[in-house]
This record gives sequence, structure tokens and C-alpha cells, in this order.
Amino acid sequence: MNIVIAGGGVAGITAAEAAHLADPRANITIFSQEREALYFRPRLPEIVSGKVTADKIAVHPPEWYREKKLELRLGESLAQVSLADKEIRGSLGSRQTFDRLLLATGAESFRPPLPGANLKGVFAIRRLNDAINLFYEAGRASEAVLVGSGLLGLEIGHALTLKGLKVHVLERSDRVLPRQTTPKSGAKLGEALTKMGFSIHLRQEADRAYGTERLDGVTLKSGEGIPAQILILATGITPNLDLAKALGIKTDRAIIVDEYLATSAPEVYAAGDCAQTLDGFTGLWTVSRLQGLVAGANLVAKDPGSRQVYKAQPPSSVLKVAGIDLIAAGNIDPDNKLLGLEAEDGGSYRKLVLNPDGLLVGFTSLGTTKGNLELTGALARKIIPESLRADLGRIDFDFARIKELPPVN
Ligand SMILES: Cc1cc2nc3c(=O)[nH]c(=O)nc-3n(C[C@H](O)[C@H](O)[C@H](O)COP(=O)(O)OP(=O)(O)OC[C@H]3O[C@@H](n4cnc5c(N)ncnc54)[C@H](O)[C@@H]3O)c2cc1C
Repeated sequence: MNIVIAGGGVAGITAAEAAHLADPRANITIFSQEREALYFRPRLPEIVSGKVTADKIAVHPPEWYREKKLELRLGESLAQVSLADKEIRGSLGSRQTFDRLLLATGAESFRPPLPGANLKGVFAIRRLNDAINLFYEAGRASEAVLVGSGLLGLEIGHALTLKGLKVHVLERSDRVLPRQTTPKSGAKLGEALTKMGFSIHLRQEADRAYGTERLDGVTLKSGEGIPAQILILATGITPNLDLAKALGIKTDRAIIVDEYLATSAPEVYAAGDCAQTLDGFTGLWTVSRLQGLVAGANLVAKDPGSRQVYKAQPPSSVLKVAGIDLIAAGNIDPDNKLLGLEAEDGGSYRKLVLNPDGLLVGFTSLGTTKGNLELTGALARKIIPESLRADLGRIDFDFARIKELPPVN
């Protein structure tokens, strides 16, 4: 069986490993546009701060690929596919036939159309090289502007504060990290970040970047100007869909896949940040890895009936900024459309969200990690905490009690 994988990120490499495990005789070739073998992309902020060097964030040593007999073509994109001939071409001229193909092409940073975004000093961080370049550029800067206060933006911003830069955060919403906070936790998080040296500008948007060749600053839509030598654009991601579109495969925001992670083209699967499952699109490492496991097994499945079904877990995100404990898992319902049980004590905050059937569908906590493990488990097990409802609103709730609740069928 000949398997070809486009993309050497976590989805592609996990799929290759799973396919090899299920069928050690399969020939597996991975085309990887990037020159570096798989590295922990979530650790790029540590490259920016200088905490670690690139070799420390590699996921596997080179011999791992040899042992698994995976042919990893670093620096070569999968450029063309003929579905009729079951043949691909690589950007360096290689040709190869395949039985099954996996699109694991991931995503790029979304770059908003901002005048001046081509100036030196403007960054969007997705690849190792972006992080290394920012590390050097930040070494001679004193002020940075961060557009977007999502997880990635705040983590990169924090890395810059560790390098001694003053970081201005522009957020068009009324609170920082709007997708992972409620109004209460967003306000508390904003206070904590301000204490750490961030300058937070809410309900503000960048109008243009100015400077000659090199960035001198950013003008906001309000007319205010902020001098800065670094501008970080952290406004989301755009899935890489070129290959899928060229093949006429159905796409929406990303490549549409069914419960087996199969695309609309026969024998072609998709996984990771380029895929949109029945549960939607998340853009997370953990989700991409899980999809890679399922897609890999299905790539070498002997018949359609033996394929694995992908079951999405409630997405969970953690803000990796030292000194701030923030987790958001499942539906945290910031607009309070469902029943929310909120608890607060000084800097600590927790909210549990129950749907109309009383089922726990999400939770978030800030300033405390107590209960995170138990609640994450409870979300996956699907429980109805009806009998504990009166006590759940207490910040010092004993979460061992939640383990005793039976799962819902
Ligand atoms: C700074 C940062 C911090 C993050 N932090 C977290 C976090 O804390 N937690 C979390 O869950 N997620 C985090 N993420 C998101 C996570 O890294 C991604 O969800 C994950 O890397 C997606 O994996 P993937 O394999 O689908 O795609 P990618 O990692 O994007 O890999 C796809 C690869 O395919 C290559 N490619 C594209 N087209 C082709 C082609 N035609 N031929 C060959 N190769 C191709 C791309 O160049 C890329 O190397 C973070 C991301 C960033 C950038």
C-alpha cells in the first residue's frame, strides 16, 4: 500500500506513525514544505523569549523517522495531484503513485489587509523561522504593538515582555482573550496582564503601520499613534486549501470531512488545521494530533467497514503565560445563554456551564487550577451535576465529589 501525506506537521506525522503501526509494510511518504522536521509549534513563544533554542522543540530525533521507515521529504511541497492516475508530483520534481492520500497541509497566519504591513518589523508567527526572526528583531526594540489578544498573541506578547519590551495590546472587543473568557474573567485577566507590564487598549483597532522601510509605529482607528519597532499580527489563521481546491474537493472554512475524516474525493483524507469535521474547526494541536491518529489508521484500513470513527472531544485551551492560570474548555457561554454557575474569591474565578438538560458542557477557571483535571474528565464523561448544583458555585468546592457522578449514556 502506497500512502502519500501532504504536510509534516503534527497531523501529518501522527497519521504517518499510526498508519505504520497499523500496517508496518505500508510505504509512507511525507512531503513537508518546511525544512525542519516536526517541532512543537505551541512552544514558539519560548523561541521568541530565548528560553529555548530550536533543537529543544523538535518532537522526534532524526532516527525516529528512519526506524519507522517513513520517507520524510523536508523542504519539498506536494505540488500536484492527479486523482485519475493516482499520481503526485513534488515541488522538487519527484513523481510517485499512491493508493491513498492525506491532506494535512495545516494553516498559515491570517494577515489582515493593513496599510504598512510590509514594513520591516511586522510579524505574524506561525513557523519556526518567524519566531527566530522575531527573537533577533526584538533584541533591538523597546516597544511592540500586538493586534489581537487571542491565546497565541498574548503568549507571543508575554515572550516580548520577558525580553524587556513594552507591549501594547489592541483588542477590538470589550475584554482581552474574548473567545476564552467571560466578561468577569476577561476583566480579571486584563488586570493581571496590566500588572505584568502589558498596556491594554480595548475597543481599539489598528488603522495602519507607519515608517520608512522599518516600522516606526502604529496609528489606531481612533487617530491615536503608538510608537513601536515591532508589530505582531495575531488575528487568526487561514487553512491551506490550495491543493484541495485544485482537486475539486469540497471546502468550507476548511476541507470538509466526514466522521472517518474522508474528504469528498475517493481515497483522500484530511486532518488537522486544514480539516473541518462535523463538529467544526478548532485550530488546536491536541485536536490535530487526535485527527492524525484516526486518519492514519483509516489510510491503511483494509476495507471501509474497518475504519475508525473520529469522535471530537470538547476543545480545551490553556493560556501559557507564567503566573496566570487560565483554562477554557468546551462551551464557556460568555453571553450567558445557558445556566452558568460562577464562583469568585479574590483573584480566582470559575464558571461551570450546564445546558438545558443539566449536562456539563463547559467550564473555565482563572487564578486557580483546582478542579481543572476533574472537570476536564467530567466533560469527556458527560455528567449531570444536578445533585451538586447548590455547592458547585463555591470556589473551594471539593472536586473529588464530581468523580462519583455517573456518566450520561
Ligand atoms: C505560536 C503558536 C502557539 C500555539 N499554541 C497552541 C497551544 O497552546 N495549544 C494548542 O492546542 N494549539 C496551539 N497552536 C496551534 C497548533 O500548533 C496547530 O493547531 C497545529 O500545529 C496544527 O497542526 P497541523 O499538522 O494540522 O498543521 P501545521 O502545524 O500547520 O502543519 C502543516 C504543515 O504542512 C505544510 N504544508 C502546507 N502545504 C503543503 C504542501 N502542499 N506540501 C507539503 N507540505 C505542506 C506546512 O508548511 C506545515 O509545515 C499554536 C500555534 C502557534 C503558531
